[in-house]
Amino acid sequence: MSFINNWLRSDIQAINAYHVPPASDVIKLDAMESPFALPEDLIGQYLAYLADSELNRYPSPGADQLNQTLRGLMEIPKEFGVLLGNGSDELIQLLALACAADDTILSVEPSFVMYDMIAKFTRLNYKGVALTKDYQLDLALMLSAISEHNPKLIFIAYPNNPTGNTFDREDIEAIIKSTDAMVILDEAYYAYAGDSFIGDIAKYPNLVVLRTVSKIGFAGLRLGLLIGSQETVLELDKLRLPYNINTLTQVSGNFLLKQKTEINKNAAIIVEQRALLLEALAKVSGLTAYPSQANFILFKAPNAQALFDYLKDNGVLIKNLSSAPKLTDCLRVTVGSPEQNQQFMQVVNKFYIPQGGCK
Ligand SMILES: *Cc1c(COP(=O)(O)O)cnc(C)c1O
Repeated sequence: MSFINNWLRSDIQAINAYHVPPASDVIKLDAMESPFALPEDLIGQYLAYLADSELNRYPSPGADQLNQTLRGLMEIPKEFGVLLGNGSDELIQLLALACAADDTILSVEPSFVMYDMIAKFTRLNYKGVALTKDYQLDLALMLSAISEHNPKLIFIAYPNNPTGNTFDREDIEAIIKSTDAMVILDEAYYAYAGDSFIGDIAKYPNLVVLRTVSKIGFAGLRLGLLIGSQETVLELDKLRLPYNINTLTQVSGNFLLKQKTEINKNAAIIVEQRALLLEALAKVSGLTAYPSQANFILFKAPNAQALFDYLKDNGVLIKNLSSAPKLTDCLRVTVGSPEQNQQFMQVVNKFYIPQGGCK
């Protein structure tokens, strides 16, 4: 037995590492990244801004300027506190670190896998409550699971990943009101959705909202934020590692995230493309595409594994969920640029309607 196998906690050894497939020379539609690069005419200005940063110094500890930039971009009322993380993943971890031994994290299934993984890393219990057949909240089941498991944290991704839908707002409010748990509305896809819970923070002291810049064009920055009451943010801030937002992220964010018009324009293009892609997928006989409020579409396909492989062989990488519980035969495609979406659809159509009779 190797040193590390002998040494490592057995529950960590049992975890399957978060898998990121290689993606060179493919149309990458697997990870909800934005297809849009920085506009040419901003590059010079951006580089000058970067050159001005002092990399021999530690970053600004509170990243106050970046905090203001994000408030401006996302229109966050000034009475709320904002806590920044190295991706929203880090903030999920920080919330888990705030829990006591034997506390429980509760979420729905299927949903974002990091809730469960981080519960495992931090030795907390995890309870996933099944969604209904059409991926809605099962309110009765949620309320009974909450009273049975008495969770400390309840994560609800809104819109949900990987299903793409939002849940019934009244159901969510009923959940928030039913519990002493902190309820975290994870709005990673806020830019593509018609609703948000930011406005409800003043109403519910146990509600916080998570956001990220990863899905709006800046996955490489690793920057997420938690929005809550001033008191909540002040206390949680004690768990943040010093200087968790590096200088390059702070400086880049302060330049790039001020391009609000550009960011909103790109989001509008994705929403438009999402409608076209949904329509195109629905036209393929046998496929079921689920409605989406996010920048991706979940769809059920006969022969999902074969379609996934065929797409990959033809240079298009999407996400294969077909062996996950409750997602039999399901695949998830990120909405890309118009050209990428067309190429994706071309391959899908070729798979189901083979030219010349051989596939
Ligand atoms: C992508 C995603 C995140 C992770 O965001 P990062 O800021 O990149 O860590 C969080 N929550 C949900 C629901 C996501 O889909």
